[in-house]
Amino acid sequence: MRGARLESILERVEAGDLLSENEIVCLLSIVQKEETEALFAAARRVRAQHTSNRIFLYGFIYLSTYCRNNCLFCFYRRSNKDSLRYRKSHDQIVEAARMLAKSGVHLIDLTMGEDPVYFDEDGFEALADLVASVREATGLPVMISPGLVDERVLAMLKESGASWYACYQETHDRSLFEKIRPGQDFNSRLDTKRIARTLGLLTEEGMLSGMGESSADVARTLAAMGELDTDQVRVMSFVPQKGTPLSDHPPADFGEELKIIAIMRLLFPDRLIPASLDIGGLRGLKERLAAGANVITSLVPPGEGLAGVAQSSLDIDDARRTVASVDPVLRECGLAPATKAEYHRWIETRMELIDGGSVGRSPGGRPDGC
Ligand code: SF4
Repeated sequence: MRGARLESILERVEAGDLLSENEIVCLLSIVQKEETEALFAAARRVRAQHTSNRIFLYGFIYLSTYCRNNCLFCFYRRSNKDSLRYRKSHDQIVEAARMLAKSGVHLIDLTMGEDPVYFDEDGFEALADLVASVREATGLPVMISPGLVDERVLAMLKESGASWYACYQETHDRSLFEKIRPGQDFNSRLDTKRIARTLGLLTEEGMLSGMGESSADVARTLAAMGELDTDQVRVMSFVPQKGTPLSDHPPADFGEELKIIAIMRLLFPDRLIPASLDIGGLRGLKERLAAGANVITSLVPPGEGLAGVAQSSLDIDDARRTVASVDPVLRECGLAPATKAEYHRWIETRMELIDGGSVGRSPGGRPDGC
């Protein structure tokens, strides 16, 4: 892209203009180092305006690795014989949450595959009980990622104290969705996030990078995220998983993930955007933060036999996914962990905006070329 063109796009977006999908494609086409650095610097300036140098820290508990689905990219897909399977008990999960809270995280993320045991008749009551126990034991907000659930279950989880519902499309290209999430319904997965919002839950949407999507597909997915108006948006790089049909597929280009993080920051200036430890562990954290992320996710307590999602064991038992291990990286980047009060304030402010109807920011407008 010509330098003056990039400068003009960045200036306008920093001044609050919306980007067209074509302009997003232009930003994704950047390859030169100076241009990439200009994009990341703009993303950092936008982050600083909204969350200063504060970074939120999320503790992660993958409570069950059983799943009824067969997503092509996932290590825990139903038919993967190589997959590590476990289902943690109520008490084990509460204890792990307590350890995470003690270590200084701001939120407990309870994630599971679509475990048939929970999806049986009364399973979600046990999950709701768990959310209530984790809230009580830690005093922290809880994010719940149970997969695709109906309104009754979402209401029950909200009632039990959950603040967030996370559920990723991975792509808003319907044909790619059908390919990578066989047998799953695109619209139901989308609607469940809208329903969660109407019930007063904050929502997270996510995309997977490196599945063969074009820049136009990425731009469309980012535009759809804007329309969905979720409170946290994430991108994760595809990592080939042993025992899956995509085990020989090339891994995602890390540079693409970083550009998408930066573009997300420009498109959604006041939202939460995670730098996940789940892809490469501590490696790559600095770069993700430098691209504009303001949350570190997937902090896992060591020694509890818990797994990650994209990297089932990386950095967990050697305690490199802990608050203590990310702290020096934050300092090196001129950043600092937020306080619990700051995280609560972010949630309250966001809820007030939602209740007042003053949220929403979607890419769109001028169809403009590079
Ligand atoms: S991505 Fe989620 S729903 Fe799909 S197979 Fe993995 S755990 Fe199951």
